[in-house]
Amino acid sequence: IHLTKVTGNLDDCACDVETINAFNNDLLYPKLQTLLESDYFRLYKVNLNKPCPFWTDHSHCGVRDCAVKPCSPVSSTTDLPSFISPNSYSHQFSQKMKVEPTGCSAVFSSEETREAVLDWSKHDDEAERFCVVDDEESPDAQYVDLLLNPERYTGYKGPEAWQIWNSIYEENCFKPYTVPRPLNPATFYSSTGNEGERTFYSWLEGQCVEKRAFYRLVSGLHASISVHLSARYLLGDNWFERKWGPNASEFQQRFDSELTKGEGPKRLRNLYFLYLIELRALAKALPFFQQASFQLYTGQLEQDQKHKEQLLDILQLARSFPLHFDETALFAGDREEAAKLKEDIRLSFLNISKIMDCVGCFKCRLWGKLQTQGLGTALKVLFSERQIEALPKSRTGWPTFQLSRQEIVALLNAFGRVSTSIKELQNFRSLLSEQQ
Ligand code: FAD
Repeated sequence: IHLTKVTGNLDDCACDVETINAFNNDLLYPKLQTLLESDYFRLYKVNLNKPCPFWTDHSHCGVRDCAVKPCSPVSSTTDLPSFISPNSYSHQFSQKMKVEPTGCSAVFSSEETREAVLDWSKHDDEAERFCVVDDEESPDAQYVDLLLNPERYTGYKGPEAWQIWNSIYEENCFKPYTVPRPLNPATFYSSTGNEGERTFYSWLEGQCVEKRAFYRLVSGLHASISVHLSARYLLGDNWFERKWGPNASEFQQRFDSELTKGEGPKRLRNLYFLYLIELRALAKALPFFQQASFQLYTGQLEQDQKHKEQLLDILQLARSFPLHFDETALFAGDREEAAKLKEDIRLSFLNISKIMDCVGCFKCRLWGKLQTQGLGTALKVLFSERQIEALPKSRTGWPTFQLSRQEIVALLNAFGRVSTSIKELQNFRSLLSEQQ
C-alpha cells in the first residue's frame, strides 16, 4: 500500500515522517486534545452567512450532516458561558470588564475601557493579516461549539465541491503567465490522460520554494480534510442509531487507488508539511502567550490559569521539536522580489478565505473557514518574528503584535485538526495491515 511509501525525508526541509509521527502521536496529540476541550477553545465565533463573492450559484446542500448547530444567545444547557463578550480582545481586558451573566451580550464597564479596546483594535495591523477575519460584530456572526459540530463525513461532493477545490488551486496557485497554463490536479480528473497532471507537476518542480510551499499547504489542507472524512465516516444509519468511524476503503480510494494516479503519498507528505509549518508558528508564538497579561479568560480563574499552563506546556513542547522547518528560507532572496512574493502569497491566501464563503455545506464551511484562518494566523506569526521579539511593548506603548481571541482559537484548533490527521494515519496503517 502507498502509505508505506509515506516515509523518510520531506522535501524542502530537514525533517522526516517518522520523527513527526513519534513526536505528534505520543507526545503532542494527547495534550492538545485535552486543551481543545476547554471552554475557551471549543467556542469559535464565525459568520457562516456571508454571501459568496465570486459566483451566484451557491445552492446550499440539504444534506442533514451539513447542518451546524450554533450556540443560542440565551442560557440553556448547551449555551454560551458568560465570559463570551462581543469584543475579540476581551481576554486582555477581562479584569476590567463587566460581563453580563446571560451570555452573548457582555458590556464594557467604563467608557475608558471601551476606548482603550477600540484603540487597540485600530492598532491591529491589517496589512499583516493573511486571511479575512470575520466581522465579529456582524449580527450574522455566531458562536459555534466545535465539540458539538465535529468535522466528519457530510456527503458534500460532486461538481459544487469540485468547483471550490478547483478555484482554490486554479485561481490561487500562481498561474505562470509566460508558459502555457498547466492543468492542475483537480482539473485533471475531469480531463483525459496523464499529460495534464505530468505537466502540472513538472511546472510545480520549476517553481520557487515559496510558490511550492504555498501549493503544498493547500494540498495538505485538502489531504487533511480527506483523512478526517474517511476517519469519521457514516458507517451505519438506521432509525435507532447512526454510527461513525474509520472507513479504510474510503481512505484507500482517496490516497491509494488508481484514481489518484499515484499522487496519494505526495498529498500525505503535503499534510506533514502543513503540520511542520503550523508547529513552527506555535513555537514562535510562545513569547506572546507567555506575557503575564495574557489570559485564556472564561471567568473561572483557577481553570483559566490551569489552561494557560497547559497551553504553554504545548508551546514549549512545540519549541523542543528537533527538526523545525526553517522559514527563513522563504522570502530570503532579493528584498524587492521577496516582498512582492510575500504580498502575492498574502493576497492569494485572502482569496482562499473568501472562497470558503462559497462552500455549500455549512459544516464544511465552518471547518474550512476555521482551518484557513488558523493557517493564516500561523503565517502571520511566522512573518512577524521581529514584532514578537519586541514584545511586550513598542516605544509607542502599543503592543507590537496582537492576536484576537478568534485567531487564537482558530490557530490551535486548525493545528488540532492536522495533528489528528497524523494520528488517524497511524490508525489507517494498522487497519490496512490487518486487512492484508
Ligand atoms: P475531492 O476531494 O473533491 O478532490 C477534487 C480533485 O482534487 C481530485 O479529483 C484530485 O484530482 C485533486 N485532489 C484531491 N486531493 C488532493 C490533494 N490533497 N492535493 C492536491 N490535489 C488533490 N466533505 C466531508 O465529507 N466533510 C467535510 O468536512 C468536508 N469539508 C470540506 C471543506 C471544503 C473547504 C471543501 C471544498 C470540501 C469539503 N468536503 C467535505 C468535500 C470533500 O473535500 C470532497 O470534495 C468530496 O468528498 C468529494 O471528493 P472527491 O473524491 O470527488 O475529490
